Amino acid sequence: MPPAARAVVVAPHPDDETLAAGGLIQRVLRTGGTVRVIVVTAGDGYLEAATALTGHPQPSADDYRTLGTVRAREVREATRLLGVRDLVLLDGPDDGLAALWSSSWSSATPYVSPESGRGPFSGEALLRALRESIDTVAPTIVVAPDPRDHHPDHAAAGRFTAAAVDGLATRPALLTYLVHDTIWPPPRPPCEELPPPAGAEYAGTPWVSFVLDADELATKRAALAAHHTQWPIVGGLLERFLRRNEVFAVGSSRGRAGTTPCEGGWGLRWPSGARALPHDL
Ligand SMILES: [Zn+2]
Repeated sequence: MPPAARAVVVAPHPDDETLAAGGLIQRVLRTGGTVRVIVVTAGDGYLEAATALTGHPQPSADDYRTLGTVRAREVREATRLLGVRDLVLLDGPDDGLAALWSSSWSSATPYVSPESGRGPFSGEALLRALRESIDTVAPTIVVAPDPRDHHPDHAAAGRFTAAAVDGLATRPALLTYLVHDTIWPPPRPPCEELPPPAGAEYAGTPWVSFVLDADELATKRAALAAHHTQWPIVGGLLERFLRRNEVFAVGSSRGRAGTTPCEGGWGLRWPSGARALPHDL
């Protein structure tokens, strides 16, 4: 990690910042850099989480809003544990980002959350807020969801971020991450270390692996534990990210495809052909 990097980490929901980049965040801070975490939605449209939190099988709008309040508290605690002092909650609509990107781009066709009743939201307003939030810290590196993620909010958040970065005067390095895919992340075993995703849709993508040290992994575990509402529902998925490495695709550069899943040791070096982290971080 180059010293004094200025990083922005974009998370569609509270917990994605820690899952994807809990180690990277710590390293940037430890090496004299700064980190702004931008959480795009409050994660307040999640039926199972709202039910688990309130005990109501059919949660009300108030129940969903309560969930959003609790999840905001959780991400504040998680990022505090990671050492982050710059957290931005954009409070966009959970489960609504794909609609903002497509049918509700304009404020003339706004989106209102069917769960919480919050709104109106529009894609153009979200893009403006996101771009401004990224631009004000003049980042050298932006970490965001990969637009190929299978979760619509993640895919859309990736597109929003790419569009936001595209409009900046200075172009930061872009690293993208996956959280949801039917084939990734693999459980442990068989893969002790997180391998690069191997599906056909990722062919030609240069993946890089960031290796955490033991302290960073312990802190990442503590930060992830702070997302209390998520463990009873998706604890198995969260657990899969508590590995000794984090995996990112290098945006806007080309290289060879990742290696086969579980091919040991790939993450201990940059895959050849990938430009890895550019000098101009
Ligand atoms: Zn998410």
